[in-house]
Amino acid sequence: MKVFKFGGASVKNATGVQNVASIIQSAYKNNLLVVVSAMGKTTDLLEKIVTLHHCKQAYEKELRELKAYHAQITAALFHNKHGVANEIEKIMAELSAALTLSDDVDLVYDQVVSTGEILSTLILHHYLIDQGVSSRWIDARQFIATDNSFREGKVDWQKSSDQIQQLIPVLETNVVVTQGFIGQSPEGLTTTLGREGSDYSAAIFASCLHASDVTIWKDVPGVMSADPRRFPQALVFDELPFREAAEMTYYGASVIHPKTIKPLANRNIPLLVKNFDDPSLPGTIIHECKVDNLPPLIVFKENQCLISCKVTDYTFISEQQLSNIFITLSELDIKINVMQNSAISFSFCTDFRESKVMKLINRLQQNFEVYYNLGLTLITIKNYDAAVFDAYRKKEGVILEQSSRSTLQVLVKKF
Ligand code: ADP
Ligand code: ASP
Ligand code: MG
Repeated sequence: MKVFKFGGASVKNATGVQNVASIIQSAYKNNLLVVVSAMGKTTDLLEKIVTLHHCKQAYEKELRELKAYHAQITAALFHNKHGVANEIEKIMAELSAALTLSDDVDLVYDQVVSTGEILSTLILHHYLIDQGVSSRWIDARQFIATDNSFREGKVDWQKSSDQIQQLIPVLETNVVVTQGFIGQSPEGLTTTLGREGSDYSAAIFASCLHASDVTIWKDVPGVMSADPRRFPQALVFDELPFREAAEMTYYGASVIHPKTIKPLANRNIPLLVKNFDDPSLPGTIIHECKVDNLPPLIVFKENQCLISCKVTDYTFISEQQLSNIFITLSELDIKINVMQNSAISFSFCTDFRESKVMKLINRLQQNFEVYYNLGLTLITIKNYDAAVFDAYRKKEGVILEQSSRSTLQVLVKKF
């Protein structure tokens, strides 16, 4: 059993869909489950529609844009009487209805934003059928069970596993096409797994199906020593240990969603990262292995915020105070990316999600003088060498640095 995952960039236009279909056709005729994201930037557009609706602003222009984008792709792929057009129309009507379903903006977000994946998978499925592939479209919400944390659904592994295993007989004679990013709450509402979560969906299906491997098809030749958009000279890894890949994603390497590695590593399922523009390239295999002498690996995490809590009298910062800070962070579900303490203050850096961070600052201000800086970038260098270590420490605008024997982190004001 194999699992393929195709992201938004691979299906951003009709040529992309044709290319994905030809990768599937030349790979397997059955025992293949294909997870697909929304086309191109559809999720951003759907997010915008939800925000505009929530702020009682006009969103009709964005809705027209969404329809026109998908209509243009289907017009290029299907003849004009094809049944897919009716299905798309029905989904668009459901989307408009979902906008007014509740006052809970996160609940509405998941019902609306999930539409992107429903559309992309329907289009790919119908295209595969027309090409003679025995494709079966399934609704991922019937298989991935979550709790009701909208926008960040937590997977119910037992229930998901029981449901997903029912796909095994279907897979024996078909290629199954399904959505990334989405699941279902116990009440039967749609949930999403967090932005960029389709890689994670592929790992969930693969783990529950005991797949032999997962391939995520990307616009890069594999996992590289840095984002090639910033460092065109970055090197492609042939192979990486699970642990190294997991750490990279933790520090912010956006090529793989951070939750993807764990379920695969737990079942020892290799993850291949391959290029959809040139499937003949070997790509990167992430598996249980030992790789000596890895080159320095550079990861940028933008939109960081540094928060410093200073004691208000002349006492030193105590364990009790630190404990209170951590309890507040845990209650607000805020993750620390780097931290440092001194005699009278504790500083930490976190992703800047405005409403959460402002709530946090309000809570901390009850006990501390709180200072914060926004718009920062956290640069992490794993396996640094002397030259890279020096270059990054001396970078202009460094406001915090921390190093261990293998990892250097610098927080910079502007990059
Ligand atoms: P998807 O289409 O699956 O959503 P993404 O756009 O999320 O794919 O991920 C691919 C992008 O990740 C690449 O275009 C690249 O710019 C970026 N990236 C960041 N860090 C790395 C890295 N270390 N190696 C390869 N690509 C990286
Ligand atoms: N479509 C979703 C997003 O853009 C999920 C994904 O692409 O992985 O975040
Ligand atoms: Mg993506």
